[in-house]
Amino acid sequence: MTTIFGAIADDFTGATDLAGLLARSGVRVSLRMGVPDQPAKDPAAFEVIALKSRTAPVAEAVAETRKALAWLQNAGARRFFWKYCSTFDSTAEGNIGPVAEALMADLGVDQTIYCPAFPENGRSIFMGNLFVGQQPLAESPMKDHPLTPMQDSNLMRLLRPQVTKPVGLADRLTVARGAAALRAALDDHKRQGTAHVVVDAVANSDLEIIAEACRDMVLMTGGSAVAMPLPALYLADGTLSADAPKAQTPKLGTGGIVLSGSCSSMTNKQVADYLARGTAAYQLDPLQLAEQGIQPVLDWLKSQDLNAFPMIYATASPASVKAAQAKLGVATAGEMIENVLATCALTAREMGARRFIAAGGETSGAITKALDVAQLDIGAEIAPGVPWCFATSDRKQIALTLKSGNFGTETFFADALRILEAS
Ligand code: ADP
Repeated sequence: MTTIFGAIADDFTGATDLAGLLARSGVRVSLRMGVPDQPAKDPAAFEVIALKSRTAPVAEAVAETRKALAWLQNAGARRFFWKYCSTFDSTAEGNIGPVAEALMADLGVDQTIYCPAFPENGRSIFMGNLFVGQQPLAESPMKDHPLTPMQDSNLMRLLRPQVTKPVGLADRLTVARGAAALRAALDDHKRQGTAHVVVDAVANSDLEIIAEACRDMVLMTGGSAVAMPLPALYLADGTLSADAPKAQTPKLGTGGIVLSGSCSSMTNKQVADYLARGTAAYQLDPLQLAEQGIQPVLDWLKSQDLNAFPMIYATASPASVKAAQAKLGVATAGEMIENVLATCALTAREMGARRFIAAGGETSGAITKALDVAQLDIGAEIAPGVPWCFATSDRKQIALTLKSGNFGTETFFADALRILEAS
């Protein structure tokens, strides 16, 4: 199998989100954590590379993304996707534009589109302005984001200072007239030298039209949702052969563990729901950890039956998180808990756990790193943007799901286990 579609995402949970949406079609989607050192031995039709470049210095983001592009080209990909956040997160210096121009230069293309819309999650674009629910981006909570405050809602204005070539718009009225009309509008823009075209979308049906119009573009850029229709289009037009390998749930040993380091309000509800089911659980207290070290939790873990899927969690209310942070420092408390949960993951694997449910973006990063997972095959979706993933860790087949903060519903942990059994 060679790769037909290669995507590069500017952060880890964004890559999982994109991979999950592509896998809804049933095709095999592979997710790589960073650019692999070696060429792919068994590339999937859809390859996604997760970078950590959203807030990196521009030159570093560009260099990493070009490396990822070269790897994907080597795997056979001929169509490419640059995935960024559906709220178009970028710093004032902005990585989105420079990375897109670097990809365009390497691919020798003179036009691409920008469509971060994700209507299912309340992100829509009208007349080039991005909305979060009913609020313009710059009036939404994103205006106060600690790393990427968004103080303009207009995507053309945000993009212009980040690129060297002209920026234009294909508006909702054009999209509403269908794929042929949109293609004609893009061609018009191209004749006038407009390299960067923001495309409006307010509903899933708009995304279908955009994907149809742009499916042969060498480079598309956007949020995950505009890529979602592509696998079905490529299957329908024969770009992807109907007998291409499908996503498969591998044979897994028994046993598993839930490791939760997210303190988001949704994760607090998910932990409460799982506790209410009477599952064995151990709560990590940062202050106690700082005094007593990791041994007490490891002793507890070693006494557990992993077939009952016990939970270890640091998830706590905002007030107790603040209290721990005040005593230990934000970074120290965070890293200490990430390290403990990562060590628990390793211990659980040695005890025979083959299913891992990780809650928290940073927490998931620490756990995948400890388990030495570099590549994941995407399986069944548990909640929008959160699939089961399959990987090899220490030559053992494992399943893991990596849930960032507010994703999933209250019953996420129990749902995840049920869905894995059913798949
Ligand atoms: P999310 O996806 O919700 O942002 P992350 O795992 O990315 O979750 O971030 C949560 C951070 O909070 C991690 O660094 C984690 O170690 C830290 N943390 C978890 N529990 C506590 C706690 N009780 N006190 C202080 N920090 C905590």
